[in-house]
Amino acid sequence: MRNRVELVVAACLLAGSGVAGADRLPGEPAGPARHSLSPSRSGSSTGWRMTACCTPASRASSGESRRARSGRGGECSRLWAVSLRFRVLGSGSSGNATLVEGHGTFLLIDAGLGPRSLAERLLSAGVDPASLAAVLVSHEHGDHARGAAAFSAKWGVRLCGSRGTYAAAGFGAVEIAGYDVLEAGETRGFGSVRVTSVPVPHDAAAPFAFVIASEGDRLGHATDLGHVNRSLVQAFRGCDAVLIESNYDPGLLRDGPYPWSLKERILGGEGHLSNGDVGRFLANGLGEACHTVVLAHLSQKNNHPELAGWRPRSPWAGAGAATCASP
Ligand SMILES: [Zn+2]
Ligand SMILES: [Zn+2]
Repeated sequence: MRNRVELVVAACLLAGSGVAGADRLPGEPAGPARHSLSPSRSGSSTGWRMTACCTPASRASSGESRRARSGRGGECSRLWAVSLRFRVLGSGSSGNATLVEGHGTFLLIDAGLGPRSLAERLLSAGVDPASLAAVLVSHEHGDHARGAAAFSAKWGVRLCGSRGTYAAAGFGAVEIAGYDVLEAGETRGFGSVRVTSVPVPHDAAAPFAFVIASEGDRLGHATDLGHVNRSLVQAFRGCDAVLIESNYDPGLLRDGPYPWSLKERILGGEGHLSNGDVGRFLANGLGEACHTVVLAHLSQKNNHPELAGWRPRSPWAGAGAATCASP
C-alpha cells in the first residue's frame, strides 16, 4: 500500500532568506497555531520544522483525515505541544549541519561548516552555541566534520559518534571538549532527547544515520549513504519526520564534469543516493506516521531541487510532497 507522506512546513525563520518567521522562537511559550501549512517550496529549507500540526489524538487517525483536518495550504487550527523540531543550517558539499530541539535540549547533527559560520547560524536561530548538549558527527568527511573540533573546543560542547569516526577524523590529536562513543544501534539520552545510531553504507570509517526521539516523536536523519539498507528502513519506519539525502540525478551525473573515478564512487553502493533511490524509499520504506520529508545534500552540479523534489509523476507524489534543503 502506498504510504502517505505529507509535507508540513513551518514557514518560519527562514535563515538568510529575509523571510519573516511565523513560528515561535526557542523558549517562547506555545500559543495558538501561527504557522502555515504550505506545499513544497523547492530550495527552501531553513525554517523550523515541526513533526505534526494536529492534536495528539489525531495522530492515530489516517493521513487522509489528518490532511483534511489541517487543510493543506491553509492554517492549522490546533497545535499539539511540539516535542521535536529541526532546522537545516547547512546542506550539501559546502557543509552540513542540522539543529534539532526536543523540549529545550539542543543537538547539532554534523559540523561541516567552520566554527564561526556554525555559531552565526545557531545564533540566528536563537540558540546559544554553548547550550548544545552535543554535536553528533555522522562521519569524518569534511563536509560533515570540518568544523567539529574547533567548534567543540571553542564552545565546550562534546562530540559524539562512532569509534571509527573518532579515529578517522583525528579527534584524538586535537583539542576538543570531549568525545562520546556511540556503538552501532545504541541509544543514548541527551537531556530530553534520545539518540539512536544507525549504521549506513558509505565510504567512511563507520558512518551513522541517527534517529532522534523526544516524547514519542521521532526524526530520522540520514545523509551520505550509497543505498538504503535494512537497518535504515527498520529504524526510519516509525519516524514522524525524515531528512534524507537525495544527492544526484543519474543523467546529470553521467553527463557532468566529474572525473569517471568520482562518478563511480558516487554511483557505488557506498557512495550517495540518487533521486530515484530516495523516491523508491519514500514510496515503500516509510511508515504511516511519517508526514514530513526533507531532501538534503543535493549536489550543486549533479542535481536540482526541481528534479529531486516533489514531482507530479514520481512514484510517491500521490502520497504527499517533499521539500529540498538549500545549501
Ligand atoms: Zn557529505
Ligand atoms: Zn561522506
